[in-house]
Amino acid sequence: MIRDQETLHLLKDSIARFVREVLIPHEDIVAELDAIPDAIVAQMRELGLFGLCIPEEYGGLALTMEEEVLVAMELAYASPAFRSLVGTNNGIGAQGIVIDGTPEQKAAWLPRLAAGEIIGSFALTEPDSGSDAASLRTTAVRDGDAYVIDGVKRFITNAPEAGVFTVMARTDATRRDAGAISAFLVERGAPGLSLGRIARPNSMPRAAW
Ligand SMILES: Cc1cc2nc3c(=O)[nH]c(=O)nc-3n(C[C@H](O)[C@H](O)[C@H](O)COP(=O)(O)OP(=O)(O)OC[C@H]3O[C@@H](n4cnc5c(N)ncnc54)[C@H](O)[C@@H]3O)c2cc1C
Repeated sequence: MIRDQETLHLLKDSIARFVREVLIPHEDIVAELDAIPDAIVAQMRELGLFGLCIPEEYGGLALTMEEEVLVAMELAYASPAFRSLVGTNNGIGAQGIVIDGTPEQKAAWLPRLAAGEIIGSFALTEPDSGSDAASLRTTAVRDGDAYVIDGVKRFITNAPEAGVFTVMARTDATRRDAGAISAFLVERGAPGLSLGRIARPNSMPRAAW
């Protein structure tokens, strides 16, 4: 659904200009550095690209699905590296919090994700569970007021940059079904969290606890 054609047109126009004037001319340097220069990330923040799909009350633009697709098509004229950087904040890295977060979790994380101050990431896939995600082996065991999460994840988009991970873990090791899996918000720097090799052709990215 498109709520306001004129506003959407203005947004698409400014993104299209940014793509052609800034992003496309920097594709080669991004490929060479394997990173997006900070000055460009700052401009992406200013344009609101990190909060496209986060509710307005948390500083996002609250685009509908149709609006998001039209904006993504503009962004996709440039290298997918740029869309990938903002992709997890608008999608899997934030939507778990948008849909099912507590008011405290929403207030703590969504404004920072919408502003691009931190990157959100989603850690579901494991070395031995992909399509059959419900067979994941990572466990979360309650220890007083906290949970101890133990497991290995792989193919986690934006893991090296992430400030917060939505981590799927099994809270009841005796059950194999999806009903025993919960989502945990794990902050970068949490004790025991380590990153493995970064994704390269013929290598496996991992985030391990
Ligand atoms: C670019 C990229 C980014 C990703 N980002 C993330 C991320 O941010 N977070 C995250 O958690 N994961 C991420 N993933 C992982 C992604 O979700 C998994 O790759 C996906 O779930 C498939 O799992 P798998 O690679 O283990 O393949 P498998 O599940 O092992 O599948 C291998 C092959 O078997 C086929 N297959 C599987 N099951 C069946 C079946 N029942 N019947 C017939 N055929 C079947 C599949 O179609 C496929 O061809 C990413 C993957 C990619 C490529």
